[in-house]
Amino acid sequence: MKAILDTRQSAHDPKHFMANGAVSPNPEQPERIAVLKRGAEAAGCSFSAPQDHGRGPIAAIHSPEYLVFLETIHTRWSRIQGGSDEVIPNIHPDRRTASYPRSAAGQAGFHQADTACPIMAKTWEAAYWSAQTAITGADMVAGGERAAYALSRPPGHHAFGDLAGGFCFLNNSAIAAERLRARGLRPAILDVDVHHGNGTQGIFYDRADVLTVSIHADPMRFYPFFWGHAQERGEGAGLGANLNLPLPRGTGDGQYLETLDTAFAHIRAFGADVVVVALGLDAYENDPLKGLAITTPGFARMGAAIAGLGLPTLLVQEGGYLSAELGDNLTSFLSGFKDAT
Ligand code: ZN
Repeated sequence: MKAILDTRQSAHDPKHFMANGAVSPNPEQPERIAVLKRGAEAAGCSFSAPQDHGRGPIAAIHSPEYLVFLETIHTRWSRIQGGSDEVIPNIHPDRRTASYPRSAAGQAGFHQADTACPIMAKTWEAAYWSAQTAITGADMVAGGERAAYALSRPPGHHAFGDLAGGFCFLNNSAIAAERLRARGLRPAILDVDVHHGNGTQGIFYDRADVLTVSIHADPMRFYPFFWGHAQERGEGAGLGANLNLPLPRGTGDGQYLETLDTAFAHIRAFGADVVVVALGLDAYENDPLKGLAITTPGFARMGAAIAGLGLPTLLVQEGGYLSAELGDNLTSFLSGFKDAT
């Protein structure tokens, strides 16, 4: 399988984030890239660098205001006397009105949903190449590849059109899906990260041309808390084109695979001709952020099941954090997919 990676994604190297009110080590580390690359290569992937498709495909999903913010906020933040090294907001407006603050602190509150998306000097550069990696993968699949793996990092599925959150800045899976749609295809996004893909849902919530499906730990007691519930089905033209399949904490392989069948039924009914898999590996039973209990062999079964859809498939890396088995879990997923293709 062809795979895409850009080393500039390592430039985002956050030291900490706030969890439960405490400053904690940030688990979304650049070291993930090397581990995932080895895992993909062990499954037979060969990597190449992405092409630079410019800002157009990114701006098709994200607002210009937000893109200016991501690119410039660290410089402006660094002028704040006594400010932190990394941009972390100290205000979270519960209603974002038409008023757009000029201050760096105000804009950070406007564009950062939580304290888990610290912005550094090179966050924009890393996020830009993470997005280009996904776009290049989309073009490969649109061009006839059966499947491609985009090692996108930082991840993307918690990012809305104008809002970062949960280690995410640019929504790589959404950008890729929009790229495929622009090529005349009808994409479904299948999000298997343990966290609900709230940004992806939000971006396509009122649209009927991209199906969004997410399987995740029940947000009643799990991040992102405010999105991902079963009753969120889309709105307007998009009503019925969003499917959330929350699972109880600790759900294992068997029930997960049954739930995948429900997702597949919707993807087929939608008439999707291409699938973007938001491939988080943090549903793993020993992931540091664990919410579900997928085993390493379980990821192979997941990959095989998704291959069984028989559709061109772009795999976009989302979450999955450093554990002894992170690379093995990717190898398992990709091998399962390949063997069933
Ligand atoms: Zn996740």
